Amino acid sequence: MIRVAINGYGTVGKRVADAVAAQPDMEIVGVSKTKPSFEAYIAKQRGFPLYVADPAKRAAFEKLGLPVAGSVPEMLARADVVVDATPGGVGKANKPLYEKAKVKAIFQGGEDHEVAGFSFCSDCNYQLAMGRQFVRVVSCNTTGLCRIINTLDREYGIAKVRAVMVRRASDPGEVKKGPVDAVVLDPVTVPSHHGPDVQTVLAHIPISTMAMIVPTTFMHMHAIQVELKKDGKKERIFELIEKHPRMGLVKGGLGIKSTAELKEYALDLGRPRGDLWESCIFADSVAVQGKDVSFFQAIHQEADIVVENVDAIRAMMGSVKDPEESIRMTNEALHFVAI
Ligand code: NAD
Repeated sequence: MIRVAINGYGTVGKRVADAVAAQPDMEIVGVSKTKPSFEAYIAKQRGFPLYVADPAKRAAFEKLGLPVAGSVPEMLARADVVVDATPGGVGKANKPLYEKAKVKAIFQGGEDHEVAGFSFCSDCNYQLAMGRQFVRVVSCNTTGLCRIINTLDREYGIAKVRAVMVRRASDPGEVKKGPVDAVVLDPVTVPSHHGPDVQTVLAHIPISTMAMIVPTTFMHMHAIQVELKKDGKKERIFELIEKHPRMGLVKGGLGIKSTAELKEYALDLGRPRGDLWESCIFADSVAVQGKDVSFFQAIHQEADIVVENVDAIRAMMGSVKDPEESIRMTNEALHFVAI
């Protein structure tokens, strides 16, 4: 069994912990919290040993009936791999802890590429992650872009990608974040960081991106235009998406034309936390004219990177050599079949 620790048990950390615990070849040896929030109660309920980032806060946890197993260095001593799911920038500060503990570490998209020196997306570069000590799983938006771009590139070759990201303002639980009533250009300048971030995984793809934030918590929406190197065929593109284990087609007949309905659909499907681990491409939006392909895809920010973290663990441990096998194992353990 691969022993996994989660440093930072928040929005991403708690999801990765559940996904790891569901795998046949992995176990959770501990999760860490800074404060005794409701998520600490969930960790206790799940039976995950709880470690504290700041040992001075230990008494505050115990006062609330939350037993503390130890400090973060003590948690790292029990792990083969730590998934750092702390807020952006904190991962970089934590890296010396991981070096000292000689533990493999996965960072999230809130960290710069340089923190790990290697940026990961399961079906793009799994094998290049084999045996590494440090890996960064790219952000939710970059993961969504990489999956479809890599798929189209393998089939047709890509001359150019242009994409506009309409981003959710905050996650549903983040009551203090906005905007409440504005469209914020983030950034005003072009390109946004997403294009260069895609190139940390797929260096040869010419891509330009723009991004804005809107007052919603549900999902991100991407408007993507791709210029292929050869003429595309809509039926073949549908086939490629439907065959892909981490992409799904939102079919017109479902009557879904918003992120709100998509999330409702995920809840009705019985997905844990209503999570959509797959990129959701709107079938009716796919337009193919010669080499030009346009479409909308929705990305569930809290979820798509969760399954990627699980694959990254296997790649770094070298326990499964074939990316398709790891992706199959991850999906099967979560009873996940893309929509
Ligand atoms: P979050 O704020 O929901 O959770 C972070 C957790 O880390 C909190 O529980 C916090 O208390 C804890 N923490 C803070 N400092 C710590 C420390 N020094 N040691 C241990 N724990 C500490 O953040 P999140 O949304 O889960 O984001 C985590 C990372 O994942 C970021 O890099 C973010 O950019 C990335 N990410 C987030 C999303 C998303 O939609 N939320 C999507 C993709 C990637």
